[in-house]
Amino acid sequence: MKLINRVAFFNTIAAAATTLVVFGVIYFVVYFTTYRHLDTLIQKERDDVFEQIKWDSSGIYPTLIEEWEEKEHRQVEVNPIFLQVADKQGRSIFKSINLQTAHLLFDTTLVYNKYINHYFKGQKIRQGQFAIYNDKAQILGYLGVAVSQVEAELLLKNLGLTLLISFPILIFIFYWATSFAASRGISPIQQLIDNTRSIDVHHMEKRLSLPAHQDEIYQLVTTFNELLNRIENNLKREKQITANVSHELRTPLAAIRGTLEVLVRKPREPEQYVQKIQQVIAETIKANHLLDQLLNLARIESGQVQAVKEPVLLNSLIMDLKKHWQNELDEKQIHFEMNIPPQLAVIADANLLELIISNLLSNALKYSPQQGTIKFDWNENTCTLAVSDHGTGIPPEHLPHIFDPFYRVDVSRNSKIPGTGLGLSIAKKLADLQHFALSVESKEAIGTSFYLKF
Ligand code: ADP
Repeated sequence: MKLINRVAFFNTIAAAATTLVVFGVIYFVVYFTTYRHLDTLIQKERDDVFEQIKWDSSGIYPTLIEEWEEKEHRQVEVNPIFLQVADKQGRSIFKSINLQTAHLLFDTTLVYNKYINHYFKGQKIRQGQFAIYNDKAQILGYLGVAVSQVEAELLLKNLGLTLLISFPILIFIFYWATSFAASRGISPIQQLIDNTRSIDVHHMEKRLSLPAHQDEIYQLVTTFNELLNRIENNLKREKQITANVSHELRTPLAAIRGTLEVLVRKPREPEQYVQKIQQVIAETIKANHLLDQLLNLARIESGQVQAVKEPVLLNSLIMDLKKHWQNELDEKQIHFEMNIPPQLAVIADANLLELIISNLLSNALKYSPQQGTIKFDWNENTCTLAVSDHGTGIPPEHLPHIFDPFYRVDVSRNSKIPGTGLGLSIAKKLADLQHFALSVESKEAIGTSFYLKF
């Protein structure tokens, strides 16, 4: 079932139920008012007759009751009112002329008043029966007052018929109006469907046009456009990463291939083989390092890396790292300085923290000159670790991008310094994962400081 029809269908069911209740109430109000009117008429007649009835010790006796001479007690056709007085056995004592030879029904077990509906001379009547008492409150007989129900019946029949006919017409009009309103209401959705169909991987730049009114559909379109922005950015980023990876892998593979091709051209001395094979091993290490970094990035981004935080002694963690990089530090004769209290513990995932600091230390080493300085400082007030060097520094225009994957400052200048451009992006993601802030300050040719705020 289409949405429009569903909306119209459920609305119509609700409207039908409400209309039924309203029609029912109207019918019953008219019904009870009509019968109350008849009963009031009967009671008025009763009061008039009661005033003129006479009795003695032998019971009620026939008398001329002026009331009965009135027109409505003579005629039968138009609005007749039948009157009859009976003794307590129900035997007629006297009656109005319009009753002729007929009798009203009397219930001789009756003590008070009673109203009944029944047929009399082919027409429906409403009859009231009232007990007549003497001074000692003994029942002497009964008075019967009957009025025609023809008009009341006609009124109720007409009303019922009108309601019955108007009900399906109303429901049909309501269904049609709701369908029309619903189709107007959801027309922006139809537009949305057509618009969305035109967006695919080849047309990711397309966006849905916003409706004129700022309603729920407007919000839906805005949210959808934001989602498209994110998808487009991710697709772009993935394309960029694939292009970068291919480029970065091509360099070591070309070097390996070139070295091996030169090597097999003619027989060589064993030393030459060793030297060329060592070159090949160095290139495979580079390629391997790139693949390791990529794998790390992919695992972090896919949420596979979980941080398990515990107290970590910062000083000893950095000392262990220093041992790992000792050869390189010695080679460059780097002056290593650490101002971190030995007992200082930070709450972090030890492995992930080690990866972050290792990346910062290896960068400081790579971009420091011979006999440079690398310093680790702890700021007690801000709970921040600073890793500083007096190396090449980073030009200000590059600072906003250095945490992006594959971003390397001035590739030609760094071409002699090996790197993938992935280290800092991995460090940043690992810091984010543990809710630490990683930031940078740098001055070209003076030095760089990275800050890890716990
Ligand atoms: P890379 O493998 O190229 O070092 P990173 O993601 O670790 O990749 O760093 C990105 C870029 O930021 C580097 O190419 C370098 O230009 C710059 N950079 C990072 N750390 C330093 C530093 N301590 N001193 C100077 N430049 C740095």
